[in-house]
Amino acid sequence: MAKISFYGGVGTVTGSKYLLESNGVKVLIDCGLFQGFKELRERNWQDPPFNPREIDAVIITHAHIDHTGYLPRLVKLGFNGKVYTSSATADLLKILLPDSGRLQEEEADYRNRKGLTVHQPALPLYDEDDAKAALKLLSPVHNNGVAVEICEGFKASFMVAGHIIGASLVLVEMENARENNESVKFLFSGDLGHYDQAIVKDPATPPACDYLMTESTYGNRLHGEVSSDDQLAQIINEAARRNAPILIPAFAVGRTQEILYLIRELEEAKRIPILPVIVDSPMAAQATQVYSRWNEEHDDEYASILMQKRHPLRTHSMMTTATREESKRLNDMKGARIIVSASGMMTGGRVLHHAMRVLPDENATLVFVGYQAAGTTGRRIQDGEREVRIMKNWIPVRCHVEKVEGFSAHADWKAVLRWLEGLPNTPKTVFTTHGEPDAAEAMAEHIRERFGWNVAVPQYEQIVELK
Ligand SMILES: [Zn+2]
Repeated sequence: MAKISFYGGVGTVTGSKYLLESNGVKVLIDCGLFQGFKELRERNWQDPPFNPREIDAVIITHAHIDHTGYLPRLVKLGFNGKVYTSSATADLLKILLPDSGRLQEEEADYRNRKGLTVHQPALPLYDEDDAKAALKLLSPVHNNGVAVEICEGFKASFMVAGHIIGASLVLVEMENARENNESVKFLFSGDLGHYDQAIVKDPATPPACDYLMTESTYGNRLHGEVSSDDQLAQIINEAARRNAPILIPAFAVGRTQEILYLIRELEEAKRIPILPVIVDSPMAAQATQVYSRWNEEHDDEYASILMQKRHPLRTHSMMTTATREESKRLNDMKGARIIVSASGMMTGGRVLHHAMRVLPDENATLVFVGYQAAGTTGRRIQDGEREVRIMKNWIPVRCHVEKVEGFSAHADWKAVLRWLEGLPNTPKTVFTTHGEPDAAEAMAEHIRERFGWNVAVPQYEQIVELK
């Protein structure tokens, strides 16, 4: 008998954790950190609703922390099996998990300094060493649909999900999971990219399965028709006329590479002048290397640019900075230039040093290309605050503030339906997860309406038998 338990990524987009069990073998799909509201984040600290020592293997769909950030904690609590994921995801995790460990340490330090803790002293959820211990368990596989044996009675095939580089749909086959000794096949969408997204391939056609789980981040929203190319071209042209800097806060993994790809395209189409582009984030530079390395993940357009011996992620006049000194030297640069730096919501990182110079400059431009969560410095500026606190200083916001719509790594509900159309059979049940409650419900309704399938919206800690 087989079953699935929903231990995260339900009722919320964070904390993805789904436990499959069959014939006494336990496999965890994704191992994400809860983020956002305090009640959610507290779950990271509670004992997990399963024993980490009893988990036989973990499957990771993609590198984002809301799918992977609990892994070092799981290892700290005694998990010692293999972690199966695509090669590109494994490479990204080598960058992201140690960084997450450092952030956890910094947060614990902050709590201790400010006396914000009832625990004396406050400990991090995990540290950089725990993250490195988790990396040792990584077992990279190809993202090409070929089934691999992951543990007794469990096979898994990974296919491109088109969300970020390395992102996978995963089909898990549990052998002898039914009374007549038949297997049960469960397909996980992971996070689905949208069609025609830059750099990565479109989501692979879903294979036949008994059960299917789909994400529903945009279950009640559509991306709209605005073209991010046109918007960005206009912003860059206006800023170039003012001969002043353009600062683009961008998440180091995924968004930075998309921006570079787009600026290169605009330059080649002569829709913008060639400006110096500075990528000032060591993590972004490392992530760009991972993006360049895994050709099996790239779409046809990317491949054809490579064929012409051009670099898809390099603009005409681009520099990256490795050291703090190199980063500081940028301060002496004058004139129009584009600075891409992390963090994407201006909550930390080198972008803050640039912001201190750019924000008060009325000729300069700040461009948002990603979601700004409530409470972040980025959100405050986007909401029109005229003064923000950065590294203990009040900085006036006099620069132009722009927002480019249309960047998203997620399929909207129409794209999810398009993806599901490729499914060759009717699944017994479709589960909609990875959405706020309204979005998950709306996605379920869209699927029922279009296909007439049985769809369920699972709840936190719900357990469902798979027959
Ligand atoms: Zn994701």
